[in-house]
Amino acid sequence: MDNGKRAIFLDQEEIPKAWYNIQADLPEPLPPPLDPSTLEPVNPEKLLRVFARELVLQEVSRERYISIPEEVMEAYRWLPRPTPLMRARKLEEYLKTPARIYYKWEGTNPAGSHKPNTALAQAYYNSKQGIENLTTETGAGQWGSALAMSAAYFGLSVRVYMVSASYHQKPGRKTMMETWGAKCFASPSNETNYGRELLKKDPDNPGSLGIAITEAVEDAVTHDNTRYSLGSVLNHVLMHQTIIGQEVEKQLQMVDEVPDVLVGNIGGGSNFGGFSLPFMGKKLKGKLDAKFVACESSAVPHTTKGKYTYDFGDTGHMTPLLKMLTLGSDYRNPPIHAGGLRYHGMSPIISYLINSNLMESYAFSQTSIFEAATIFAKTEGIIPAPESAHEIRYVIDEAIRCRKENKEEVIVFNNSGHGLLDLSAYQLYNAGKLENWEPTSINYPDIVH
Ligand SMILES: *Cc1c(COP(=O)(O)O)cnc(C)c1O
Repeated sequence: MDNGKRAIFLDQEEIPKAWYNIQADLPEPLPPPLDPSTLEPVNPEKLLRVFARELVLQEVSRERYISIPEEVMEAYRWLPRPTPLMRARKLEEYLKTPARIYYKWEGTNPAGSHKPNTALAQAYYNSKQGIENLTTETGAGQWGSALAMSAAYFGLSVRVYMVSASYHQKPGRKTMMETWGAKCFASPSNETNYGRELLKKDPDNPGSLGIAITEAVEDAVTHDNTRYSLGSVLNHVLMHQTIIGQEVEKQLQMVDEVPDVLVGNIGGGSNFGGFSLPFMGKKLKGKLDAKFVACESSAVPHTTKGKYTYDFGDTGHMTPLLKMLTLGSDYRNPPIHAGGLRYHGMSPIISYLINSNLMESYAFSQTSIFEAATIFAKTEGIIPAPESAHEIRYVIDEAIRCRKENKEEVIVFNNSGHGLLDLSAYQLYNAGKLENWEPTSINYPDIVH
């Protein structure tokens, strides 16, 4: 159906009033997180020193809908939400495809990605509990800046451990965090025992997300009135992000469309989870017959080459064990420019769905995703984040298949953020200087048999 609309907007009153919890509708309960010292399910009480209480309760909840507190609704309106659903008509024309392509555009807020949807909720629950300080890790700085902005909104202080290589290569995101009032340290740092130990062995350690998580958790549990905040992977984070998919459902109804293919990128799984899980709920009830496609980097093929097993979430092994698709917590993530996709593991929910064949996943090389990003920029105007360029690669390939097979599919994807702080990567691509990587060997974890 074609009513000529470029952007499909919802009114602010139409922001969904509750988050959707897929745990209510999965065919079986998710395998529980395990305590690494006993290999028994973790007692949620033990997590209360790390995370705000309400977030721990949400993590294990099986309630189908959890109402969004009025303070968070106000923060969503401030952001502002709802975000538009766009029709990629110029891209369709360029590809001469009979497919109709739509994308949810999450790059419109001041932080530039979907991440404030959970950062605001997490900052709120911490402040409501009387917590004054947050700690977290960040790779390229997307999550750190989203949390810094959200902490400023709710009047909290935040200490961010930023992967050392990015800290030095990407000063822009650090400046954003500092402008919003956060303290930012290159990780490994001299702020924690774990960081000092690593720096003693190698003063030039470039860091990793896994190391930065260990530092941020250590900081939280060794300081008063401080809690740790995680930007992806966990159930409560994916649940907060379902605000995205529930808006898309309403927007597609407004133009009388039913999705055939739902596509997104997966770093820890939060943006694709948030976008697709409300639709997955329908699929599990037999009310929707769509294909779900998760896209990742062939340099970090956590779901296409990962093993579905229990593993640590961090390099220093402070976190509980999660059952997930993983490359092993010591996996050396190559320095691809999609910083948000450089993580060894995957959300337990997304891992479960891929392992159960309810979702498909594909990996793409760095040069192929920048080629797609450039086509998208020329036709749609938006310069996408390198992470988002992964699903754009799939969408372009799928639209071309539709042309060849003369198939009228409705393809919907989540455009998770803009790439305006990743222009150095575009510069390298334009100069033909981008490299590709693939793992030559993988050390799969073997912790729980
Ligand atoms: C962080 C980030 C991602 C990847 O993280 P998920 O938790 O998988 O969503 C993707 N896109 C953008 C723009 C990001 O900032």
